[in-house]
Amino acid sequence: MIERFSPIGKILAMHLDTITPADPTWQAQALCAQTGPDFFFPEPGSSVREAKRICGMCELRPACLEYALANDERFGVWGGLSEKERLALRRTSG
Ligand code: SF4
Repeated sequence: MIERFSPIGKILAMHLDTITPADPTWQAQALCAQTGPDFFFPEPGSSVREAKRICGMCELRPACLEYALANDERFGVWGGLSEKERLALRRTSG
């Protein structure tokens, strides 16, 4: 996927643009747009606790998670779930 090979700033912009492209207010609602991408695409082995905490307060969380699952996003925190958690969810939901 293009996002995986893009600079981190582009990943975040594309990530959010794709979730609600018709809604001009989405940027204000997406908390990760306000905090920056570092929390959401941490180095391997780094904590995702802060990203998950921010997602927990984000109104876009359901749509974000749905998008990540539908598009098989493998990297980063999406909709409050880490890569491993999304993989486990995909396995249990068939
Ligand atoms: S749920 Fe998390 S990753 Fe998704 S838009 Fe909100 S803050 Fe960003």
